[in-house]
Amino acid sequence: MECDVAVLGGGPGGYPAAIRAAQLGAKVVLIEQDRIGGTCITVGCIPTKTWVQTAHALKDAGSTFAQLGVNVTGVEHDFAVTQKNKETIVNGLVNGITGVVKANGIEVVNGRGSFKDDHTIAVDGGEDVSFGQAIITTGSHALSPPVDGIDGPLCVDSTGLLQVDQIPKRVVILGGGVIGVEFASILQHFGSQVTIVEMLDSLIPTEDADASKELHRAFKKRDITMHLGARATGVQDGDSAVLSFEASDGTAGQVEADLVLVATGRGPNVADIGLEAAGVRFDPRKGIETDAAMRTSVPHIFAAGDVAGRWQLAHTSFREGEVAAENATGHEAEVDYAAVPRCIYTDPEVAGVGLTEAQARERHGDDVAVGRMPFSANARAQMYAEKTGWVKTIHETRYGELLGIVIVGPQATELVNAGVIGITAEATIETIGDSIAAHPTLAEAVKEAALVALGRPIHLPPARPRAKAAAAR
Ligand SMILES: Cc1cc2nc3c(=O)[nH]c(=O)nc-3n(C[C@H](O)[C@H](O)[C@H](O)COP(=O)(O)OP(=O)(O)OC[C@H]3O[C@@H](n4cnc5c(N)ncnc54)[C@H](O)[C@@H]3O)c2cc1C
Repeated sequence: MECDVAVLGGGPGGYPAAIRAAQLGAKVVLIEQDRIGGTCITVGCIPTKTWVQTAHALKDAGSTFAQLGVNVTGVEHDFAVTQKNKETIVNGLVNGITGVVKANGIEVVNGRGSFKDDHTIAVDGGEDVSFGQAIITTGSHALSPPVDGIDGPLCVDSTGLLQVDQIPKRVVILGGGVIGVEFASILQHFGSQVTIVEMLDSLIPTEDADASKELHRAFKKRDITMHLGARATGVQDGDSAVLSFEASDGTAGQVEADLVLVATGRGPNVADIGLEAAGVRFDPRKGIETDAAMRTSVPHIFAAGDVAGRWQLAHTSFREGEVAAENATGHEAEVDYAAVPRCIYTDPEVAGVGLTEAQARERHGDDVAVGRMPFSANARAQMYAEKTGWVKTIHETRYGELLGIVIVGPQATELVNAGVIGITAEATIETIGDSIAAHPTLAEAVKEAALVALGRPIHLPPARPRAKAAAAR
């Protein structure tokens, strides 16, 4: 089988790459060993967020409705229905995107592919695919830390957890990164007793430090137990699992649980796909080396998504796939990573875009100012009965350029898109502060955070002298 562009892997990196290359007139073959949609649709973004929605509903029925004067009795969680809903949504999206791929005239080959040489991909049980250009989008897999007993029957990764037929009464989550905290938040609303064991000193350690602290505070209020700075040393299985850890002060601890979720990161799928035969340079831990055009060390072979090792996000994978396809079909494009939204679907939600405050201060020194607007002073947040959190704007003070927005609170993952557009358009803090935000909306908190940064908030009392001076700098 011959084609202009072969795409290896049909997830958020692969299917947009295949569609874009077809739109640009190429004959495209998409090789996928499983279902089109990849990790994101089948075992990642989509199934986890359907659980998030159920978690929100449980919280609403359990406490929010009563605050709004709606009394519900006999609230029950039918987990079998939750799972069925998740599968229905996943299957619908897989079918939808498979239809779109086919409607673009793309030939889909089912099977595991690996490079035979730099112009041929062999497919298990199928014909070889010879290509002019190729795009590698094989994604990533869950990593397991070197801890005794971590592969026992009561230890699961995120894919295993999504398939359980009963909610674990007690769960210990190894890892306080994005995947770990999302499941902690969901499972606590599902009624599990949740413990997080994290080796570093904070949750979501790569996020803005204020956001990390706010999430920690909120989790504490929700009775989620957190052992931070704690290194797991072993898991023992019996009727239940006992996870042992060593705290930062050297003391030993143990947590007993019905299930252990191992959420300690993901590694690129670079093994056994013939990268050596194709001459593509890669690092087993960091993934395939690419330039901003997503070109690998072999000029007619591109890589995109998790396997390219920059971000592990569906939306960066989408864009990288499109850019790879444009370059593979003779056009010129590059990925601009300045405004990548970072969304964490916990309760409260956390989202950021651009620089964190620490990164901004590292790059711009004292020429940085922030503005912070609490949701407790936002009218719409009060109506939602969601007053936790705030919006923080971060800008540099020489030209006023917006550098980052960080949000903790209701709809943070939606609101952050205002920051995506602002940073992409190189907006100034005045652009945000002087814009007209619809009233009453949560989005007003974004505008008002900018006004705080400019020293002229309307819905907060005047800043104290020190903060005011800092804001005016
Ligand atoms: C629990 C969880 C929750 C997540 N939530 C979010 C979220 O809310 N938002 C977000 O942006 N990101 C989220 N992610 C990350 C997101 O799923 C990934 O970043 C995204 O799926 C990466 O896309 P990809 O195309 O690079 O790889 P994948 O989605 O992993 O797709 C790779 C595809 O390649 C196929 N493949 C691999 N090797 C071969 C081969 N040799 N031959 C043929 N086919 C092959 C695989 O079967 C797979 O379908 C989440 C991830 C997890 C695990």
